[in-house]
Amino acid sequence: MQLYNSLGQTKQEFVPFNRDVVNIYTCGPTVYHYAHIGNLRTYIMEDVLEKYLRFAGYNVNRVMNITDVGHLSSDADTGEDKMLSGAKREHKTVLEIAKFYTDAFFEDCKKLNIKRPDVVEPATNCIDEFIDMISVLLEKGYAYVAGGNVYFDTSKLDTYYVFGNMNEEDLAVGVRDSVEEDESKRNKTDFVLWFTKSKFEDQELKWESPWGLGYPGWHIECSCISKKHNGEYLDIHCGGIDNAFPHHTNEIAQSEAYLGHKWCNYWFHVLHLNDARGKMSKSKGDFLTVSLLESKGYDPVVYRMFCLQSHYRKPLTFSYESLDNTAKAYDKLIKRIAAIKPEGETDSAKAEELIGAFKSALDNDLNTSLGLTCVYDVLKADTNGATKLYVLGELDKVLSLDLIQEQTEPAAEETPANAEIDALIAQRTEARANKDWATADAIRDRLAAMNVVVVDTKDGIKWHFAE
Ligand code: AMP
Ligand code: ZN
Repeated sequence: MQLYNSLGQTKQEFVPFNRDVVNIYTCGPTVYHYAHIGNLRTYIMEDVLEKYLRFAGYNVNRVMNITDVGHLSSDADTGEDKMLSGAKREHKTVLEIAKFYTDAFFEDCKKLNIKRPDVVEPATNCIDEFIDMISVLLEKGYAYVAGGNVYFDTSKLDTYYVFGNMNEEDLAVGVRDSVEEDESKRNKTDFVLWFTKSKFEDQELKWESPWGLGYPGWHIECSCISKKHNGEYLDIHCGGIDNAFPHHTNEIAQSEAYLGHKWCNYWFHVLHLNDARGKMSKSKGDFLTVSLLESKGYDPVVYRMFCLQSHYRKPLTFSYESLDNTAKAYDKLIKRIAAIKPEGETDSAKAEELIGAFKSALDNDLNTSLGLTCVYDVLKADTNGATKLYVLGELDKVLSLDLIQEQTEPAAEETPANAEIDALIAQRTEARANKDWATADAIRDRLAAMNVVVVDTKDGIKWHFAE
């Protein structure tokens, strides 16, 4: 499998450290509010990655943390703990809101057919591990105590900006206008490992430590939780692209300084979901959730399909118009599948060929939109119903779109071509919204080859076959 690696910024052949098990770590949610559908885009694409690796024959050990302490309102160690501000907002304790929003997160995941990772570990379970790692970093000279806090000393590293392509001046913590400079830091890029002093003295959860009563910084939790459950060598680390800096950059600094060797080989970053106002973010307050989509009549799986229609390394723009197109395409697809009669013997050679095409798509840096096209190719394939249903069942182990549903009434007037055209139009709308003209043009050419005329009307996009 070829996978794009943010470390090196190239597509690379995926080779795990150990063929018996692929270790994956995923930055989990900060549980001070509901997950928005942007967060869930990241978790959907990570879920596809995990399921595809299993489909390709690997065993996988996937670990996720739950951030229930230490993530401050700025990723650059300043501001109030997000958990504390969530608790104040709802007049509850931090642990109460952590439990509530952790459960809500996994409910959303269930609705989107996102598998629960093998290990889920809240940060507050691992205080001893954090203290141990910080102590070793101090012993090795990678950390220092100043003004009551413990800091990581980035000047001790040969390379700090490991993901390249970053403008050091723009990114350096403390340089941005919005970030107050912490006088105790020796270098602008240093970050907090353990807080005992912050201007928010009402921090609710605090623990005894060799450096006084306090709480961990956000970055240390992922280094420790991964080491605890994935071991010293990590194959793939996942997260949204906003986590690449400073969070993942700092994780690498800590883990490699502690371990004394390279830690993680592949960094899988999902680009953002944007809406009309830009990046969707929890701190903006007004954001889209799975429950909101459901209340508007959308099946959450339609949102999953919406995400799979685009590549994870392209920004995705959300609009109800695009989601409506996907909902239409999904409905037709399910009806087409429901119309397939399970007749004949499964033709294993044909099944292998169809599954092979799907694997080629996903082997190419998880090309899910091409993977979806393979679903339509199965509908059109020259083979019996039993073979088609078998292959669709296999593909759905990765796509998880509930492709095979028993109760659905098949729509007699739908043809495989109609269903495919709707799906292509949905993909083209999305590509245009993202100014991805190359993809939009390729889809237009494909539609033209199918003799389809697409017309933009005030009621949305319509199509008909050319005379
Ligand atoms: P948080 O709960 O804020 O810690 O974020 C959970 C995950 O969602 C992280 O991997 C983030 O990088 C990711 N994320 C945050 N905002 C977006 C967005 N608008 N689109 C996609 N992923 C996001
Ligand atoms: Zn993390």
